Amino acid sequence: MRLLEDGKAWTLLTSLDELKGFEESIGSRRPHGEAYSRDFRGPNWLDKRKAAAGFTERDPVVLIVGGGHAGLSIAARLRQLGVEALIVDRHPRVGDNWRRRYHALTLHNQVHVNHLPYLPFPANWPTYIPKDKLAGWFEAYCEIMELDYWTGTEFSGGSYDERAARWTVELRQAGGTRTLHPRHVVLAAGVSTLPRKPEIPGLADFRGRVLHSHEYDEATSWRGRDAIVIGTGNSGHDIAQDLYSNGARVTLVQRSPTLILNIEPSAQLVYALYGEGIPTEDCDLITTANPLALQRQYHRIVAAQSRAMDRELTDRLARVGFRNDEEDRLGWQFKYLERGGGYYFNVGCSDLIAERKIRLEQFSGLAGFGAGGAQTRSGEVIPAELVVLATGYLGQEHLVRRLFGDAVADRVGPVWGFDEAEQELRNMWMPTRQPGLWFNAGSFAQCRIYSKVLALQIKAREAGLI
Ligand SMILES: Cc1cc2nc3c(=O)[nH]c(=O)nc-3n(C[C@H](O)[C@H](O)[C@H](O)COP(=O)(O)OP(=O)(O)OC[C@H]3O[C@@H](n4cnc5c(N)ncnc54)[C@H](O)[C@@H]3O)c2cc1C
Repeated sequence: MRLLEDGKAWTLLTSLDELKGFEESIGSRRPHGEAYSRDFRGPNWLDKRKAAAGFTERDPVVLIVGGGHAGLSIAARLRQLGVEALIVDRHPRVGDNWRRRYHALTLHNQVHVNHLPYLPFPANWPTYIPKDKLAGWFEAYCEIMELDYWTGTEFSGGSYDERAARWTVELRQAGGTRTLHPRHVVLAAGVSTLPRKPEIPGLADFRGRVLHSHEYDEATSWRGRDAIVIGTGNSGHDIAQDLYSNGARVTLVQRSPTLILNIEPSAQLVYALYGEGIPTEDCDLITTANPLALQRQYHRIVAAQSRAMDRELTDRLARVGFRNDEEDRLGWQFKYLERGGGYYFNVGCSDLIAERKIRLEQFSGLAGFGAGGAQTRSGEVIPAELVVLATGYLGQEHLVRRLFGDAVADRVGPVWGFDEAEQELRNMWMPTRQPGLWFNAGSFAQCRIYSKVLALQIKAREAGLI
């Protein structure tokens, strides 16, 4: 509750926090461990872990598709509630979702807001975590939290049996296919799922390499060569900077106005509460206990502050023709919540553009592509051996359609973003119109916070409470 000075309540939050009789097995309710140590002939802890993870004679209650932080956080929550969950991921190694990204990547938000549930990052960790360090943490997290995780496993789809109230799902592995019958499927495959590849005039004739941003992972082979990056969100800027820093000649192509913020301080303002002082759980409660209308008001104020802070940078950018999103009123976080992107946290690329070290072109100024690169409307050829499409991703509903077919996708509808009447993001962490299908995705903070309510809702069903 937030109280006004006169004692009246301004906002009131009610939230599912715990199921009486089914509390998490943590702290004073931790497992005793006797079972592993008193019977010297019986299986020990490791034997039991290995047997449990194989799921040879039984099905997991929950199948989690995707083992990034979204998958890990819901798996950890379910485990404490005694719900058997299996994560599957197509990558060969836990953490590969970060390991395979570009060489110079560090997280954009500070360490304090990015903790996974139950196990905070150590206090000596850097403020901005490098990708490979994070990938290693994911592996350790799985081991420490005893999560069942099958790597090298592609979830290729499934169908739901209403009467049996369970799924039949197909899992592809190197050695063949496994069929399982979980009662719940949690899609934790990312907010951005399938790459969006727009039709670009003439690109089919281009003789160089075309990569979507999700396929781009290294710059050194492009040293001394020409590259064009299309798209000015975070990925486009970061890839352009990565290529430039490794000796490529880079042109960045802007399609639409993009909100530019310096990574510090403006991009961090919305997380100002998180730091070395207040416990993470308290910060989580304070930041999520606002109704949506109030949240918008708060973000409007913060967005105006950061616009003023970044004015010097956006003026410099305007001088070279970069179109900052001057229409924006709610700031980067609402762009993320409403459309999953449309902003860039400047870690140096904006300066390279302003200094004309990275060439900027407007998409509207290009006539199209040809064999050797792009052509401007004035007839100049911009040579290229590489074109990177940093053109974003399709939403989760597209993945639902691909994995479960039209009937399920039509029933569930759009995922993520707000609809007029709702307080919450569409279909996220709540029962969907498809029984047994759930979604966990978003930032580290969102997955940490909302995986708890999602796990409790699944547990409540499994315990027969609803
Ligand atoms: C440079 C950069 C900095 C960022 N910094 C931050 C930050 O500081 N804080 C923050 O909160 N966020 C940050 N993000 C954004 C975001 O958190 C990440 O993009 C993150 O990867 C999302 O995690 P996820 O688990 O939801 O999805 P993903 O990381 O996309 O993982 C999904 C997993 O699902 C698997 N998968 C998908 N489909 C299938 C299938 N059919 N079968 C099997 N496996 C499948 C994939 O292999 C993948 O491993 C940053 C992103 C970038 C690029």
